[in-house]
Amino acid sequence: MSEYTNRTGGQRIIFHVDVNSAFLSWSALKRLKEDPKAVDLREIPSAVGGDIKSRRGVITAKSIPAKRYGVKTGEPVVQALQKCPDLVLVRSDFATYRSYSRAFTNILFRHSDIVEKVSIDEAYLDMTGREDQYQDRIAAGEPFPLCAAKAIQDEILSELGFTVNVGISVNKLLAKMASDFEKPNRIHTLYPDEIPLKMWPLPIRDLYGCGGATAERLTALGLDTIGAVASIPLSTLQASLGVKMGEWIHQSANGFGSDQVHNEQRKAKSYSNETTLKEDMTHENYDRVAPQVLDRLCEKVSSRMQEDRVRALTISVSVKSDSFQRRSRQTTLINATNRKETLLESASSLLEELCLGDQGLFRQGHGIRLIGVGGSHLTESSYEQINLFDWAKDLEKIEEEKKKARAEARSRKEIQNRKLEKMKKLDTMMRQSREKYGKDIIHKGTGGYQDDL
Ligand SMILES: [Mg+2]
Repeated sequence: MSEYTNRTGGQRIIFHVDVNSAFLSWSALKRLKEDPKAVDLREIPSAVGGDIKSRRGVITAKSIPAKRYGVKTGEPVVQALQKCPDLVLVRSDFATYRSYSRAFTNILFRHSDIVEKVSIDEAYLDMTGREDQYQDRIAAGEPFPLCAAKAIQDEILSELGFTVNVGISVNKLLAKMASDFEKPNRIHTLYPDEIPLKMWPLPIRDLYGCGGATAERLTALGLDTIGAVASIPLSTLQASLGVKMGEWIHQSANGFGSDQVHNEQRKAKSYSNETTLKEDMTHENYDRVAPQVLDRLCEKVSSRMQEDRVRALTISVSVKSDSFQRRSRQTTLINATNRKETLLESASSLLEELCLGDQGLFRQGHGIRLIGVGGSHLTESSYEQINLFDWAKDLEKIEEEKKKARAEARSRKEIQNRKLEKMKKLDTMMRQSREKYGKDIIHKGTGGYQDDL
């Protein structure tokens, strides 16, 4: 029996691999590729995010030197610049991030055929019983599974140029917690027998999957570490957090979690919804009908997936024509999703291709009678996974919306000012007319002046 089998009690071996400062590293690498003499962004205080020119927006990733200045992910660029005036800012570049993410996944698949990608820069691997692949390293005195983690790190660094953290344990929760320990370029284990030493002293907000509100509630009860929460009875936690959340927190704080790594390549059951249209959809009414129908279908598919806590990696759209032909198209995302917005984005372009494309049904003179949207290649997410990619996009969207709201407020104010200006002019004109021609000569209309601005 090997050393790790002893420590895991024969349980599975799960890795969580997490790219260190993913967006920043990938932006740095792209810059170096374009200009080998350029400064490596990872070695200076630098950050990704915001609108570089106007210095608005938020930080979505930062270098380790920037971190030393106290620059934080999610904080406004203005605030980060106050902490670190020399901070070099770069714009996010999702096309580059996607291609590095794909290359990262390809390397992971060399080490295990069970890889669950959970966001653009992290994945779980089931490494149970894979010693045979690492005989050379084991013979050189490197024990399994540490040698496997080292091999993954080495290949990613030498072939792609960036570092990753690897967390090793018997389930996904503990592996994820472990990869979050000291960064960068580190390997950490968090075996069940290490929980009291490595996990229980941590603040409760560090427990993966424990949201800010739950953490606050527990802290208010005097339960401020993971260990404190682990030691109190399940019923007490359930009384304060509700049955489901109480159980989830109790299990997690004691180190229990799922050890099922859901392979992306695995074909699972799918979630789909379809509807027969009230009127056939044609080229003429496409712009009116398609957005409405897709919105409804994506809403349904998304909420069912969210209820079941699963995400789909493949999105498909199917249609039936007025001559009962069935056609479908699908696309595979980088990150599994159950967000309505992401489903809608993919579904819209798939439907467009099916109907309006060169080979589309409209070109062939067909109308559409039925539309369906589906998600397949499911991954389970027993807790809310923060998707860095979606999150960064969300942050940008929020900034955009704020900008729009500010512009709207400005233009509303301008309109009001112009109205006031006009009323003043009108009053002056009336006063002057009365002075000149007598007081009955002019009255304001009963409906007030016409607002023609
Ligand atoms: Mg990361």
